[in-house]
Amino acid sequence: MSTDRTNELINNYNQILSKVHSLNPNCKLVAVSKYKPSSDILSLYNHGVRHFGENYTQELISKAQELPKDIRWHFIGNLQSGKAKDLCKNVPNLYAIETIDSLKKCKQVNTQRNKHEGENINIFLQVNTSGEEQKSGYLKIEEIEETIEWILSDECNKLNLKGLMTIGSFTESTSGEENKDFKKLTDLKKELDSKYNLNLELSMGMSNDFEQAIKQGSTSVRVGSSIFGARLTKEEIKSN
Ligand SMILES: *Cc1c(COP(=O)(O)O)cnc(C)c1O
Repeated sequence: MSTDRTNELINNYNQILSKVHSLNPNCKLVAVSKYKPSSDILSLYNHGVRHFGENYTQELISKAQELPKDIRWHFIGNLQSGKAKDLCKNVPNLYAIETIDSLKKCKQVNTQRNKHEGENINIFLQVNTSGEEQKSGYLKIEEIEETIEWILSDECNKLNLKGLMTIGSFTESTSGEENKDFKKLTDLKKELDSKYNLNLELSMGMSNDFEQAIKQGSTSVRVGSSIFGARLTKEEIKSN
């Protein structure tokens, strides 16, 4: 790997990290490496970074197999049915799934983690705060509560309830004012924390809106393009 690329990645990462920490010294930064080569991840790994986010199961599995085993992978993509097995079987160092949006998926992950050795998996429940049709995530609080109650029950032994996650709408992320989607997630956290005596983390904020998200209470931001540079779209990758 060229030192130029390595320096660029480390500079970008350090810049984002110092912005994050200036707003909240305890906020975590997950480096979203989808579509980017393992060599990029390794450059940051050698700089001490351990938390990386990936969106596609097959891509995550290949990267996890060739990269160091103490990386803490966050799955942040849409978890399609049947893929819980692939992830649990092939990524023993899967640290978190941030995109659980049904009790069914939760149960599948727990079952698969029991079948395939690995650490307990941290679960973020994804909430569709913007109500946009194309977005995944829970829409009903009853279903969120049902999932929380199951994770807290004895039936669930391989999952830790870690927090809530959302992706703000484009309009809200570019408004420059208080983000209503983030506000919804923060309000929901307060409600659930007091009902179940929890202290849920909030995974919200990406390259465009992580600063606003931290101001509104985010404890874990997911930043991709500001660290690794712009991504090709799926279509562009296919035609290459
Ligand atoms: C791609 C992606 C990110 C990172 O987005 P950037 O705008 O590149 O920072 C964060 N969260 C999710 C869920 C993503 O899919």
